[in-house]
Amino acid sequence: MATPVVIGPTVRIIEDNCLNCGKKLDGTFNVGGADIPREGDFSICCHCGHVMTYGKNLRLQELTEKDIREIAGDENLLVAQKLVAEYNRRRDD
Ligand SMILES: [Zn+2]
Repeated sequence: MATPVVIGPTVRIIEDNCLNCGKKLDGTFNVGGADIPREGDFSICCHCGHVMTYGKNLRLQELTEKDIREIAGDENLLVAQKLVAEYNRRRDD
């Protein structure tokens, strides 16, 4: 049986915009780790599913080639992507 994935509470973050769809992002919840995001953590836009990373001052950045290799198949990322897809499916119903 798979280990349950821990999902943290929703927290406010410094407002930024998705680098793909441009929507305002000012909140987040963490999948599988600490409650608050830290520089180097990955982020998924809840509107379009674009995967980014937090850079200095928690500003969103595009993934580097190294980041892409690092997160390929990451279980927490897969869970987060499923949650975003489910959120968008329910929002669109
Ligand atoms: Zn987006």
